[in-house]
Amino acid sequence: MQPQIYKSEVFDMACRQFDIAADLLGLDPSLYERTKYPKRCMAVMCPIRMDSGEVRVFEGYRVQHHLSMGPTKGGLRFHPAVTLGEVAALSMWMSWKCALTGLPYGGAKGGVCVDTRDLSFGELERLSRRYMQEMISFVGPNTDIMAPDVGTNEQVMAWMMDTYANHVGNSVPAIVTGKPVSLGGSEGRREATGHGVAYLIKSYLNDLNIPLDEATVAIQGFGNVGSEAAVALNAFGIKVIAISDYYGGFYNAGGINILDAVAYVKAHGSLKGWKGGDSISNEDLLILECTVVVPAALERVIDENNAPKLRCRILAEAANGPTTNQADAILKQNKDIITIPDIFCNSGGVIVSYFEWVQDLQSLFWTREEVLNKMYKILDRAKIEIENQKKKLKCSRREAALTLGIKKVADAKAVRGLFP
Ligand code: GLU
Repeated sequence: MQPQIYKSEVFDMACRQFDIAADLLGLDPSLYERTKYPKRCMAVMCPIRMDSGEVRVFEGYRVQHHLSMGPTKGGLRFHPAVTLGEVAALSMWMSWKCALTGLPYGGAKGGVCVDTRDLSFGELERLSRRYMQEMISFVGPNTDIMAPDVGTNEQVMAWMMDTYANHVGNSVPAIVTGKPVSLGGSEGRREATGHGVAYLIKSYLNDLNIPLDEATVAIQGFGNVGSEAAVALNAFGIKVIAISDYYGGFYNAGGINILDAVAYVKAHGSLKGWKGGDSISNEDLLILECTVVVPAALERVIDENNAPKLRCRILAEAANGPTTNQADAILKQNKDIITIPDIFCNSGGVIVSYFEWVQDLQSLFWTREEVLNKMYKILDRAKIEIENQKKKLKCSRREAALTLGIKKVADAKAVRGLFP
């Protein structure tokens, strides 16, 4: 029976993906629901004093999907559309992502329903600290480790770690990842997700025998993931021809000046008012004729309406859950498009989070080069496993990635047994 508290389109979508993968695996019925649904969830109300003196209360969640292979791990999202169901779906994807890439974690996700553009710096700090305060009983470096996601960043992680450290009385860097390097963060973590996305795009372009300097890329979303993917693609010599954010997008057939766009966003907070290309809507960007389309923002942007109109060779899912089940069924029939599924495509972030956690626990830190090389190795291995699984099960890349992740979690549950 599907838990009612998570009822939402995006939770249904994650469940449907699980069902398809579990059927392909022939998953033992006694493991089915045990593996599928999140273990537990917390819902908290976070009151903070606004600069005006008024007190406002923000709703927050944390969902821990499974605890069978180690602590739970996953980001914290600040966004006005956050719901418990969305957070639950994201926690499931974190589980399959960690298992697929061989990280000793279960999945988790947190969210606060807030538009951070409405908060001052001080209000953001108070909200971040209050959320951590409310979660202290349920998290820990061996229990549940948070990280940045949509709407949160290194600074938010620094406040969360400081709040936790004040509670226990000593510094606990391993309580969160994606921290500033000065607090025990890892070299390479900030760019890890986007860099991993770019690395995989490069790898699949090579498979398709498309020269890097002939490829063109359109990126939807210019937050941490989209912008760092653009920077890395640029560094690899792959041309980005369109970028966008919440306010709209820019198209430049000659190539977007990425470093200029990044500098503009740093100075102005968004791409609004930037002058680096012709304007293009977020919808049109996805159906541009180009080699690679990278959805790097929110869920469910590729649906049954635009899936038939995609004109790319590679769909690189930097966002979590950007493709609906209906769109997925359409793309499965389209042999011309390679979909690099989210749980693989954006896994560089949590892979380097794992490295950050390991470095914190041993108080021994690695160079950026060491970090990225170790990340490449994990991505290369996962790619081989996915391509083999795809052939073996005669399924899509998404199904291959999901079955690999789900099987590892189900196997761990099976050998642990049921107790009590
Ligand atoms: N929020 C990121 C994700 O969706 C990173 C999670 C982490 O590093 O724990 O994968």
